[in-house]
Amino acid sequence: MAHPQHRLYRHGGATAALGGPPLLLPTGRAVGGTTIVNSGTCYRTPTPVLRRWSSEFGWNTNGFDTLLDEVERTLQVATQPRDVLGNNGLLALDGAKHLGWRAAPLRRNAPGCKGSCQCVVGCPTGAKQSVQLSVLPDACAAGARIVTGARVLRILSDPDRPGGPAAVGVHVRRADGSELEILSPLIVVAAGALQSPPLLRRSGLGSHPRLGQDLSVHPATSVAGRFPHKVTAWEGVLQSVGIEELHAEGVLLEATATPPGMSSFILPGLGRELRAGMDGAGHLATLGAMIADHPSGRVLGRDRTLIRYDLHPHDATRLVTAVRAMTRVLFAAGAQEVLTGIARAPRLQSPQQLDSMLDHVTARDLHLSAFHPTGTVAAGRDPQRFPADERGQLQGVHGVHIADGSVLPSCPEVNPQLTIMAAALAVSRAIVQ
Ligand SMILES: Cc1cc2nc3c(=O)[nH]c(=O)nc-3n(C[C@H](O)[C@H](O)[C@H](O)COP(=O)(O)OP(=O)(O)OC[C@H]3O[C@@H](n4cnc5c(N)ncnc54)[C@H](O)[C@@H]3O)c2cc1C
Repeated sequence: MAHPQHRLYRHGGATAALGGPPLLLPTGRAVGGTTIVNSGTCYRTPTPVLRRWSSEFGWNTNGFDTLLDEVERTLQVATQPRDVLGNNGLLALDGAKHLGWRAAPLRRNAPGCKGSCQCVVGCPTGAKQSVQLSVLPDACAAGARIVTGARVLRILSDPDRPGGPAAVGVHVRRADGSELEILSPLIVVAAGALQSPPLLRRSGLGSHPRLGQDLSVHPATSVAGRFPHKVTAWEGVLQSVGIEELHAEGVLLEATATPPGMSSFILPGLGRELRAGMDGAGHLATLGAMIADHPSGRVLGRDRTLIRYDLHPHDATRLVTAVRAMTRVLFAAGAQEVLTGIARAPRLQSPQQLDSMLDHVTARDLHLSAFHPTGTVAAGRDPQRFPADERGQLQGVHGVHIADGSVLPSCPEVNPQLTIMAAALAVSRAIVQ
């Protein structure tokens, strides 16, 4: 049987964005979408972000808090209890405390989490309330039918309807090559920010000039600290603690312990040196950081997605700030050295080396990845500027609604699943009304 990474991720997790610097952008592909492989971190949309979406983009954010409450109830969101955090999270808390920085266990949708540290290849105990466990059973009970292993080739529409073009269904290909049409005057597109624009284009619905533009990805980088004692970071919650000290500057740190093998790029050297590094992985604690980015990317393509992303210079500076901040937390927690994953400054032996070693580092030297693509079919009031209206309906056709990460008009500045689900709930409420 194929490795879970190949079964649960598009391109086996190796989706990349071209540009400067290139970055890895994995997404899930399963019933339940990327929530199957996500880390279960649940942040509410920050109030300043909602204010901006209201004033700049015309979003009606009045009831958004109530929608977030509803999503939190459905996903059973709660603060992660300390007893399963594991050493990776505890060291992050400790380092932040020494620096006097704001930090706390994250809120997550994983009641009864046993700290298996396997979220990103699918929760082995079923604790994480990903969508196939939390939402889809109710949908099925209400009469929904799920067609699995199938790709929507295109949305069918009738261009000659009185009153303008209108959706009439979808054309689907199953894994065995058979094809079928599902007829409906109402189509909700939720293929994710990287797949929805190509689907709309190959359906002849991609004429809006901003479709596929304004991609934010919330770029991320990570560092590891080597401790004199065993850390065994893979025993505990994979993403356990948030450090929000720099969040007002758009930098969010999270203690994220990827299973060994998925994060070996951070280890310096090749061959014997790399093997020795892997042997010592039990002494490493890892932190990740994400920065609230400018929408500097776009999704091209019709049959296949092609992603272009060029980091904005301001965001590049903030990524280096993030590396400095993570390094400080790890040294404050007692790390003997910090591994940066940066070829020209792979190891820092003390906080005093921070400035001299990282002074000439630019974002091009960093290993970047991103897990939160949003914004490619953004919703908003101005029809010239936004491919979807503020209720998520695609401009220029009746009956096509967008309800995934594409509709967010800018980076939500936190892990986005609650925001995306609340936005999707708003879209579905608008349809029902
Ligand atoms: C490793 C990882 C960890 C993450 N951790 C967190 C976290 O802790 N907290 C958080 O808030 N967010 C996290 N995220 C991000 C979060 O899970 C996503 O932002 C969110 O799930 C996106 O929702 P979506 O509906 O836009 O798209 P998706 O969840 O990606 O769903 C889109 C679905 O549509 C399917 N699809 C695409 N095209 C077609 C087609 N043509 N026909 C049929 N189906 C199609 C896809 O296969 C997929 O199943 C993480 C992401 C990753 C990759």
